[in-house]
Amino acid sequence: MSISFEKVESKRNIKDAIYTEVIPAGLGYMKPLYKGQTLRIEDTHGNQGLDFLCYDLHNPEDHYSSTQTICRQKNIYINVGTTLVTESGKELLKITADTCTCQDTLGGACACESNTVRYGHHTLHMRTCRDTFLECISEFAGQYSKVDLVPNVNIFAQILKLPDNTFEFLDGISAPGSYIEFEALNDTMILISNCPQINNPCSGFAPTTNQIYIFDK
Ligand SMILES: [Zn+2]
Repeated sequence: MSISFEKVESKRNIKDAIYTEVIPAGLGYMKPLYKGQTLRIEDTHGNQGLDFLCYDLHNPEDHYSSTQTICRQKNIYINVGTTLVTESGKELLKITADTCTCQDTLGGACACESNTVRYGHHTLHMRTCRDTFLECISEFAGQYSKVDLVPNVNIFAQILKLPDNTFEFLDGISAPGSYIEFEALNDTMILISNCPQINNPCSGFAPTTNQIYIFDK
């Protein structure tokens, strides 16, 4: 499978969106995206990372798999040409446009535990993406639980693999208005945390809003 790392713009116009929602800094979004629909995520102000997961809508246990997705395309980065697949190999989402070209598959979601290890014990009570994920799935109690919070995609995030095999959270490169689009290949549950992190540059140390748009076929 060939992955393009060129910026690819969408032919869609936001005036044609059937639904739009602003995700404030530090909050989340969890809603279905039905087969044939397209989800656009826009980095409204620039340099604002967000954490992203997806599930088979009709079988939530079959969640996004970073391992399956990376192995299938033989590349740790995702862009236009990538299909996000589940643990069972089911195709959920295909990336059809990307004007940022800086998404990460390995860095994971911020959590109070990792914050304290990385940035000190005083960060223990700061809000994290894991908090947001937990709040979102609590709205679907009985269908989703902690075990479903698996390694995620970091959208608009620059976390590079360095020559010594370590990782570093770098300043983002997404400009205001950058966006990425996912077309649903099957009915999918989308889970997003608009990252509240203020201890590394993934949100420019000052988290801002994102906006989502949904388009029908
Ligand atoms: Zn985060």
